Amino acid sequence: MDTTTIISTVNAIYGQTFACKCGRTHRIDPQGVIYAPDALAQLPDVAVQWTPAPGRRAVVLMDVRTRAVGGAAAAAALRERDWQVTEIVVPDSAAGGPVCDDRTHDWLLPQMESADIVVPVGSGVLSDLGKWTAFDLDVPYVSFGTAASMNGYASANVAATVKGVKTLLRGRAPRVVLADPAVIRDAPYEMTAAGLGDILAKSVSSADWRLNHVLFGDYFCDRSVSLIAEIEPLYFDHPEDVRQRKPAALEALFHGLLLTGVAMTMAETSAPASGGEHLISHTLDMMSALDGQPHDLHGRQVGVGTVLTSELYRRILALESPDFSHAERSIAVDRAFWGRMGDEVASHYAQKVARIRQAAATLSRGDTWDRVREDIQPYLRPPARIRGCLEQAGAAFRAEQIGCSRERLLTACHHAHEIRSRFTVIDLARLLGLLPQAAEEIVEAWA
Ligand SMILES: [Zn+2]
Ligand SMILES: [Zn+2]
Repeated sequence: MDTTTIISTVNAIYGQTFACKCGRTHRIDPQGVIYAPDALAQLPDVAVQWTPAPGRRAVVLMDVRTRAVGGAAAAAALRERDWQVTEIVVPDSAAGGPVCDDRTHDWLLPQMESADIVVPVGSGVLSDLGKWTAFDLDVPYVSFGTAASMNGYASANVAATVKGVKTLLRGRAPRVVLADPAVIRDAPYEMTAAGLGDILAKSVSSADWRLNHVLFGDYFCDRSVSLIAEIEPLYFDHPEDVRQRKPAALEALFHGLLLTGVAMTMAETSAPASGGEHLISHTLDMMSALDGQPHDLHGRQVGVGTVLTSELYRRILALESPDFSHAERSIAVDRAFWGRMGDEVASHYAQKVARIRQAAATLSRGDTWDRVREDIQPYLRPPARIRGCLEQAGAAFRAEQIGCSRERLLTACHHAHEIRSRFTVIDLARLLGLLPQAAEEIVEAWA
């Protein structure tokens, strides 16, 4: 199959409602994706289609950079077709670009009250601000993406900072996602490389999700995991095409990221796209919030986390007869390390403790270990392939490339299990006694 056929096949899912083998009926949003050179020209028709009549008032959100690559043009295209347009340029924060936090949200909302539709033009932050405000205003939104940098375009979640704490809020997916291939190609390359890091996480996060299914009977949907199976080879097997910004590889990456967002909506949790590898990145972010040191782009840190956790899985699955006597000792949270966040971290971790005990009890029974190993294996990729892909694509795969010392990365590895209630490969490695001991060796060898 050629790229166009592959992509039109996977895109057939948008707007569909179907009964799935997992037992759920999935309603897939967005209703459509337009990845075309004339995406901006199509915007007014798309907006009319998804705005309840007689609405003709649009709010276009952008920042100073995305204003130049689509924001101003989007507003102009709508005005030309008799829309009343409010253009809002979200100001940059002291740290750099704009942020998706409660202050920005509260600043935006009063300016947007008359909107019949919201059109965010940008990547992660703008898309999330549009999603969040449109949800609060109860109006539709269509997203104009400007970089293949993250998997949030098509998802219903908003990654926001509320009262200084990173939170996942519920919103709705956009009606339509639009993107112009030339804009995606010309985005700062480190953003594209970050998108690659975020999507490669999927092998580890899928394995972690599957692990929660086999160990605890959690809901699991194989269809949502396999959504990107056909397009994955277009970037995973050809990372140099991503580096050279070849149209097919970038289009596949953009669609793969969208479908990862769709998978999260199907699952009604971020589990299909966020496992132990993400916890390492989140921990680095939280350490930055505590000590004021900078952190890197989400997807770049996630790429490094994916290499480390893939190696962890490789070592775990190689264990023939593991020793489960470490389980009780592995249950630990270091409140002092987290300073002012100590109570919150401890309360998340406390929700997981029963699962750690349950996992150890289940895995030590009969031939369970071998059955689980066999079940998880197909979701994983060898760490060397993940690292090789990142390296050949010119993406970050080492600690120093994400502006972080090995020592700091090692500290993140030692504390990553504490921050969330989700059971991941990191908890499994701890209860098997691989961690914390092997962390130093793995960071040394792989990052
Ligand atoms: Zn399903
Ligand atoms: Zn991510």
